[in-house]
Amino acid sequence: MSKIEQRRLVQRLQSQGIKNTAVLQAVYEIPRAFFVEEAFTRRCYENMAIPIGEGQTLSQPYIVAKMTELLELQTTDRVLEIGTGSGYQTALLAKLCHQIYSVERIKKLQWQAIHRLKKLELHNIQLRHADGWGGWVAKAPFDAIIVTAAAENMPIELLQQLKDGGRMVIPIGNETQVLQLITRIGEKYHVEKIEDVKFVPLVAGELQ
Ligand code: SAH
Repeated sequence: MSKIEQRRLVQRLQSQGIKNTAVLQAVYEIPRAFFVEEAFTRRCYENMAIPIGEGQTLSQPYIVAKMTELLELQTTDRVLEIGTGSGYQTALLAKLCHQIYSVERIKKLQWQAIHRLKKLELHNIQLRHADGWGGWVAKAPFDAIIVTAAAENMPIELLQQLKDGGRMVIPIGNETQVLQLITRIGEKYHVEKIEDVKFVPLVAGELQ
């Protein structure tokens, strides 16, 4: 886990337009290679999605950073993440916010993530094995919500769990997917389309 590679990654993200210094600092501090299998440790710094097992993928660094930046996080924020996966995005959020709540439907991935996040001594994280379409009612409302799998349509329950003024980033679609930024203003939701993306689907129903 070389600091040189971490620094190069930050420089590349800057050249791709990521500006938020707290986000860039978190990317520098969290060792991306620690969240992928050994066979991928070299490639994980390239601008590509990396397989994390169970047919799932960790998004390319640019998309992870872009989604994090769009949330405009404060250190006091409580954030909901849907799709813990490898735990990499969770770790970045934990560096930036007060408390992270992350939901994953595949138990095996959740266990791996628990182990990694503990090793990095990130303690402001609560993980849950559940279907993320329902969010995490008991911990709502959230200052920000990030969904790291593509939903066929807008999950209404997640919108309801956003605080007034809160922001949510979510890829919407099937074959063609668009990253959307939603801002809640009272009972209204402002939607901004950001860019085309490619995510694994946000699966509904039975857990694994
Ligand atoms: N943020 C992750 C990305 C993992 S890929 C990372 O940094 O590695 C998307 C993840 O969403 C997968 O782990 C997948 O199992 C999970 N997922 C898909 N549908 C889900 C659902 N309905 N509820 C919770 N997690 C879901």
